[in-house]
Amino acid sequence: MMTISKSSDQQPVATDRRIEFSLALHGGAGPKAGEDYTVVETHLGELAKKGEAMLRCGAAALDVVETMVKAMERSGLYVAGKGSAPNTKGQVELDASIMEGHTKRAGSVSAIHDVVSPVAVARGVMEKSECVLITADGANDFARAEGFERVSDPASYYVLPVGVSSSDIEVQTMMHGTVGAVALDSQGNLASATSTGGVFGKPAGRVGDTPIIGVGTWADHDIAISCTGTGEYFIRAGGALTVANGYTMAGDTLQQALWRLLDDVQALGGDGGLIAVTKHGEIAMAYNSDGMKRACVTHNTPVMATTFAPCK
Ligand code: ASP
Repeated sequence: MMTISKSSDQQPVATDRRIEFSLALHGGAGPKAGEDYTVVETHLGELAKKGEAMLRCGAAALDVVETMVKAMERSGLYVAGKGSAPNTKGQVELDASIMEGHTKRAGSVSAIHDVVSPVAVARGVMEKSECVLITADGANDFARAEGFERVSDPASYYVLPVGVSSSDIEVQTMMHGTVGAVALDSQGNLASATSTGGVFGKPAGRVGDTPIIGVGTWADHDIAISCTGTGEYFIRAGGALTVANGYTMAGDTLQQALWRLLDDVQALGGDGGLIAVTKHGEIAMAYNSDGMKRACVTHNTPVMATTFAPCK
């Protein structure tokens, strides 16, 4: 039986001086209690340091979240990109999205095959097409036409990510994991990106919350959010925009806003987590599953990377 625990992190931020930047990453809220995720935590910590260096040099939040997600996709450590979950036909179908807060530009792809970086293609959709979401064959055609790097030998490219065994796939439990990043840059701009191979045991053509703007990913002038978990529940609970509206319109604290969504996900029977950063540089991370692989850093707080550590 799955145990549901409530946990969340929120980093207090000094309000008496200008916040320069904040960055949070997640590697999915599907880790199993008792597994060792040291390798993943080390990877997340190193990535956060790279993101910190980029932001310190003035990089745009959009570039930073894309860089972070691309590195996670290529690593094979997470259920995204190289570590993606095959569907019941044995085929890997990938979903990803990206959004820039101050322009509200957004792009996403769903059920795309054999591209090395789905999030790069999502950014391509945002910048080079009139569309927000392109799916399946159309997404593959777009990626080919725009020259995005393809996986040359899918049979040997994809690997099982840390903590997943082949028996997990046979059980087909919709076990999940995703990667995401949210950032506030030194210009005060926010961005968010999310990428997934979906859930193990998914039927062909199944699309979760990740590529749906406002559900798996959201960014506006005030807040950037990336979700992870059983996507069906996040869609039914309203997703990331519920958090944004709670924070900007209902007067929720950041933590209350995150739990406004997660409580609903939990009430519906789902599990997962999410990360968020605000225009003030506050970071919050919350999950109701066993753990969530995650890391964060700000201009004045050091890198923190963990999976199961109790949240403050
Ligand atoms: N949300 C993803 C999906 O449902 C999976 C995950 O985040 O772990 O496709």
